[in-house]
Amino acid sequence: MVQKLQEFLSEAIAEKKAKNLYNEIEALSSANGPMIEINGQELINLSSNNYLGLAKEERLKEVAKKTIDKYGVGAGAVRTINGTMDVHNDLEKKIAEFKHTEAAIAFQSGFNCNMAAVSAIMNKEDAILSDALNHASIIDGCRLSRAKIIPVKHQDMDDLREKAKEATESGLYKKVMYISDGVFSMDGDVAKIPEIVEIAEEFNLITYIDDAHGSGVMGKGAGTVKHFGLSDKIDLQIGTLSKALGVVGGYVAGSQELIDWLKVAGRPFLFSTSLTPGDAAAATEAINILMESTELHDRLWENGNYLKAELKALGFNIGNSETPITPVILGEEKLAQEFSKRLREEGVYAKSIVFPTVPLGTGRVRNMPTAAHTKEMLDKAIAIYEKVGKELGVI
Ligand SMILES: *Cc1c(COP(=O)(O)O)cnc(C)c1O
Repeated sequence: MVQKLQEFLSEAIAEKKAKNLYNEIEALSSANGPMIEINGQELINLSSNNYLGLAKEERLKEVAKKTIDKYGVGAGAVRTINGTMDVHNDLEKKIAEFKHTEAAIAFQSGFNCNMAAVSAIMNKEDAILSDALNHASIIDGCRLSRAKIIPVKHQDMDDLREKAKEATESGLYKKVMYISDGVFSMDGDVAKIPEIVEIAEEFNLITYIDDAHGSGVMGKGAGTVKHFGLSDKIDLQIGTLSKALGVVGGYVAGSQELIDWLKVAGRPFLFSTSLTPGDAAAATEAINILMESTELHDRLWENGNYLKAELKALGFNIGNSETPITPVILGEEKLAQEFSKRLREEGVYAKSIVFPTVPLGTGRVRNMPTAAHTKEMLDKAIAIYEKVGKELGVI
């Protein structure tokens, strides 16, 4: 290794370690589910995004196996050359039906959707109004587009209106977009879609909602935009197939013309090999399950509401989540880390989230109950929370 690189790496790693931001990644020796195994320890898992428990669902596994038998394990090429199979087109049709849009396009990940879609539409003559707490992939997608990025205070509709007015009236930009998470995963708060639509109509903003944490969770499963009944008012709806849907991949849903454009201008679509056939078919089956019944969705909300109510009753600060995401806000970064460590020793896997992922002094342990948790598992986790909370003087 050249010395320059060695010096850079040693310094960069030491700096991360000094700031307590160096994460040691642990491997699961089980499927991702409500219970997981790490280093031989059985843990109640409150850390996944597997909201509906579909990651190890039998129906999805069966479909994936059959599809692999017929189509093989890899798609073999990028979509435009030789990598589009029936299963990819079937998935896109199903997504459009599920999202109540004219069309949809699938990508290899939600992250790739944002890499593709923002820069296919916006360029250096444009401006993007972006919520201050947007996901990293939105931020990177915006940067890639080279448009002017104008941060908007988190969920502050007055600030959005003011900046939309300024940007459009300045005459500096050809197009202006507003981009936001549908559900913010650190706090569980939901984008104010009706106000966003109203402001967008007033100032001619392109609207872009990344609903990675809302798909399968909000709107009886169809997402945050559908929850507000405004599917025809948001120009681009982004979702992931990897969280509530339990597989991997991402999608953009919108008008036929938008999707046609992304198929010729979305760079990760053009230059990165498509989803594996097994994943595409499993994701289609996951949507089938959601469209057949709201049972998993309902159980997720029941479990989320139960966990929130019980932790709140114990005296924990659970913030203002409007979704099953349950943050337990502890304050100091060190306390959040210690809390998570003690939970783990007692049998609950729930990660601490600290600055800079969340504002300084709002360190927390984030809990993601799923449809697959039983009441016994949740009760056990709540009892452990009570024990650790008392021990560390939080409640
Ligand atoms: C998780 C997430 C993504 C990335 O999705 P993947 O499918 O995991 O790549 C994108 N946007 C938001 C808002 C997310 O929360």
